[in-house]
Amino acid sequence: MGRAFVYVIVGGGVAAGYAALEFTRKGVSDGELCIISDEPVAPYERPALSKGFLLPEDPTRLPSFHTCVGANDEILTPKWYKEHGIELVLGTRVKSVDARRLTLVTSTGETITYNFLIIATGARALKLEEFGVEGSDAENVCYLRDLSDADRLATAIQSSSNGNAVVIGGGYIGMECAASLVINKINVTMVLAGAHCMARLFTPKIATFYEDYYMGKGVKFIKGTVLTSFEFDSDKKVTAVNLKDGNQLPADLVVVGIGIRPNISLFEGQLIIEKGGIKVNSQMQSSESSVYAIGDVATFPVKLYGEMRRLEHVDFARKSARHAVSAIMEPEKTGEFDYLPCFYSRFFAFSWQFYGDHVGEVVHFGEYEDGKVFGAYWVKEGHLVGCFLEGGTKEQYETISKATQLKPAVTDMEELEREGLGFTQTV
Ligand code: FAD
Ligand code: NDP
Repeated sequence: MGRAFVYVIVGGGVAAGYAALEFTRKGVSDGELCIISDEPVAPYERPALSKGFLLPEDPTRLPSFHTCVGANDEILTPKWYKEHGIELVLGTRVKSVDARRLTLVTSTGETITYNFLIIATGARALKLEEFGVEGSDAENVCYLRDLSDADRLATAIQSSSNGNAVVIGGGYIGMECAASLVINKINVTMVLAGAHCMARLFTPKIATFYEDYYMGKGVKFIKGTVLTSFEFDSDKKVTAVNLKDGNQLPADLVVVGIGIRPNISLFEGQLIIEKGGIKVNSQMQSSESSVYAIGDVATFPVKLYGEMRRLEHVDFARKSARHAVSAIMEPEKTGEFDYLPCFYSRFFAFSWQFYGDHVGEVVHFGEYEDGKVFGAYWVKEGHLVGCFLEGGTKEQYETISKATQLKPAVTDMEELEREGLGFTQTV
């Protein structure tokens, strides 16, 4: 027993929501498209979970952050899917896929067949157990990937007011959650494996600016060490964390953000995997012609750099989704995906965006002292390849994005530093 659809999207996160909207714009007919998600709610803007969702007052709640509100587009509520004849199968896991035979089986035992499959299964948070530390299932140890994690974290925050939180990891989750914890009046200590926060993107100068601000808000940083074990009470709640450097930190709450792994296990042995993701071409098409991959799971050709990459950011999830749908429904009109990497974050009153590639020599510009508008350029082989900007206006972000895409020549690094943000306006 089973059903047949023309298009099936497996996974119901950010990329799935944007793909659904694009399908309707390209003219999908009633009953042709099905989305299967193991989450119990319609696709939503995941970035809200570490920001508005954790606020102590007036926190963001569904339905206000369903996709595609993050791109200032329509909010796709469950009613919207119904009205557009899209079958939304929620709370249901896809257990197996036969990519050659164009069939899949769900956790309810249903077999579904399709003409085209879009893989949008996103990623899972890495667990401490994968680094040899036990205790992730304690009620006050929180990860943050989906709505149920966010609900759990919001509840733990409420019961930890004026208490101590330890944040493990200084990446995106660590930085955004630490800010939310401070806003909730919780004392925060961040444990960083490396020398500074956001080590893969931030230069030491950028990191120092934000760390100083966090310290001004009472956050303590412990660097160059990792968690080795937890102390528990008789209810199996964590009471303290033990670090490799011998420190012990009391903890009412532990937030862990130590990276992710793409959810690709359904496709291993069936599709070509590269750099931890499903290898796709410039149409987001995998090694099986009727199977496409978008968002966090896709390893795609970055035309601008002539390289295959996997990106874990929402702008890519949205744009790769639109491109795949266009490639499926209007193949003759769809050119190569020409994507400029874009990352952003918001914490406290700060807001930054990054465009391009963070390789080569770095030039900093702007007012790091007052922290209002500042940034950095990355220059490789005499060309501007990346730009970071804190506190820019909409127009300034558009300008740096356009300039970075053009990879303008840079002949004099000192001149670039003097010109600062003005450089991108002259490109
Ligand atoms: P997801 O949005 O993760 O969706 C995948 C979906 O597939 C999930 O619903 C999952 O449950 C489902 N699924 C997986 N396997 C199966 C299966 N077998 N059967 C059925 N369903 C399945 N990026 C930014 O650029 N800026 C930000 O500010 C930002 N903030 C973030 C904050 C948080 C808390 C998190 C976790 C991520 C954030 N990101 C941010 C990253 C961004 O959200 C992701 O890059 C984006 O969600 C990827 O979209 P996706 O559709 O590929 O995956
Ligand atoms: P990140 O990859 O951003 O950061 C992980 C951090 O954990 C790094 O600082 C890393 O250090 C550190 N780390 C790795 N292993 C260990 C370990 N064993 N012990 C201690 N620290 C460790 O992942 P996050 O978990 O922060 O975020 C998860 C996902 O969510 C990512 O895909 C991210 O892009 C996304 N996200 C994006 C946001 C945004 O774009 N604004 C906001 C929130 C989430 P090192 O760098 O030295 O390896």
